[in-house]
Amino acid sequence: MSPGAKKLIPALTDGVVTSIFYSSCLGWICEFKSDEHGIYIGHSHLYCNKHDSINCDGSGHEDGSTCMKNLKVGDRVKAGQPVGRTGNSGTCSRGAHLHLTFAKKSDPRYAKTFDPEKFIDQKLKKQAETEATESVQKPEQTKPDVTTPEKAPKPPKSVLRALEVIMKWFGK
Ligand SMILES: [Zn+2]
Repeated sequence: MSPGAKKLIPALTDGVVTSIFYSSCLGWICEFKSDEHGIYIGHSHLYCNKHDSINCDGSGHEDGSTCMKNLKVGDRVKAGQPVGRTGNSGTCSRGAHLHLTFAKKSDPRYAKTFDPEKFIDQKLKKQAETEATESVQKPEQTKPDVTTPEKAPKPPKSVLRALEVIMKWFGK
């Protein structure tokens, strides 16, 4: 993912921050565990707030300070709340980008991660199904009782669409 440098990264879902640390390869990492499904969502190569740098090499953080300004381990995050800014930290990064990882275990350096797109696809699919159900219910509510045979409470979409056209043609 390449949303550009220093862009705020929104949390994909609600959760609790489990770790914020520097890895020589992955750079600054912020990881949180989602409430739903208990998935560890890692964000790597983050921008360093302390040095105002997307290329922080992890040095100068001996005092225990991290790259984050307003986030620490144990903090709760809500979906949409920032969990860091995109950067280029770590030797495995070539250009500012977000390295997003999903895993059942903590630590994106070692955990077996899986494709975040599948997770997002699932969410979108669920959403699409909900919307489809809602859009089907609407025309059912507006259709007149006279044209609805009792034995067929759920007419096919084509029938509903035809009904809409007829209603328009009649001027309601
Ligand atoms: Zn730094």
